[in-house]
Amino acid sequence: MSENILIELKGLTKRYGYGDTESFALKDFDLTIKRGEFIMIMGPSGCGKTTLLNIIGLLDRATKGEYILNGENVASISSRRQSRLRAKKIGFIFQNFNLIEDLPILENVALPLIYSGYSKTARLKNASSALKRFHLQEREYYLPYQLSGGQQQRVAIARAIVSDPEIILADEPTGNLDSRSSHVVMEELKAIHEEGNTIIMVTHNPALTVYATRVINMLDGQIDTDVKTVADQNLPQPISVKIKKKKDNFAALELPESKESRKSRRKNRRKK
Ligand code: ADP
Ligand code: MG
Repeated sequence: MSENILIELKGLTKRYGYGDTESFALKDFDLTIKRGEFIMIMGPSGCGKTTLLNIIGLLDRATKGEYILNGENVASISSRRQSRLRAKKIGFIFQNFNLIEDLPILENVALPLIYSGYSKTARLKNASSALKRFHLQEREYYLPYQLSGGQQQRVAIARAIVSDPEIILADEPTGNLDSRSSHVVMEELKAIHEEGNTIIMVTHNPALTVYATRVINMLDGQIDTDVKTVADQNLPQPISVKIKKKKDNFAALELPESKESRKSRRKNRRKK
C-alpha cells in the first residue's frame, strides 16, 4: 500500500514574525495523503488552510518540517526545482479564478505548458482540447471578462489540468459562484477525481463534502478532526496511462553504464 502514498507532511510548521509578533499558521502539522483521495479541508478563517495548500503546491515553504512528495523530501530543494516540479505535478484552482485579464482564454489555459518543452502550436492545441472538455471551445478567443463566473472557473479548471498533473489543489473554488455554477464546477472536479486524480480542496460549504472521500477540519494551524468516508481500497485508480514525454522515456530505458565503458570513457578523457 505504501506505493500509494503521494504526500507525507511531518511536523510541518509555518511561523510568521518574531518575538512579540510571532504567530503560527501551521503547528507541527502531520498528514499522509494517498493517491486518489479527494480531501476537503474546512475550518474557520485564519486557521491555516491557504497556507497548507500553498506549501503543498510548492508556492510557499514551511519554516520547519518535512514535505515528502512521491518519496522525495521537497521541503528544502531549490526554488528552481520547486517551480519545475510544480509545473509538472500540480494544478491550481483559486477562488477568484486568477485568469490573466488581457489574454484570450485559450492562451490562459496554455500557460502552464510553457515549461513543458512543447512548441507554441502544440501548447495551443492541448489547451484547445482541454477547453473542449468543458464545452468552451467556441469561446477560445474570448477574454476572461466576457465569460460568466462559472465559465471563468471552468477555464481555470482547464488550465489546472492541461499539463496532466497528479495533484489538483483548489482554494475555495466555488466561493465566488452561485449555487448552480458551484454545482457544475463540483461535477467537473468529481469527474477529474474519478479519473484517478488526487484533489485537495478548501471549502466553507459543508454541503460540498458529499464529493469528498475525506474531510479534515482544521483549527489554529492543526488538524481538529479527520474523517475518511471512502475506504482506501475503494479510491479511484488512474484509468489512463499517462503519455510520457520523450525525454522521460529515454531516461527510463537507459541502462546503467558498464564497468568497461566507464573505464574507456575515463581513458579517452585523460588522452584529450
Ligand atoms: P485560512 O486560509 O484558513 O483563512 P491562512 O492560511 O490564510 O488561513 O492564514 C493562517 C494564519 O496565518 C492567519 O492568522 C494569517 O493572518 C496568517 N498569515 C497568513 N499569511 C501571512 C503573512 N504573509 N504574514 C503574516 N501572517 C500571515
Ligand atoms: Mg484561505
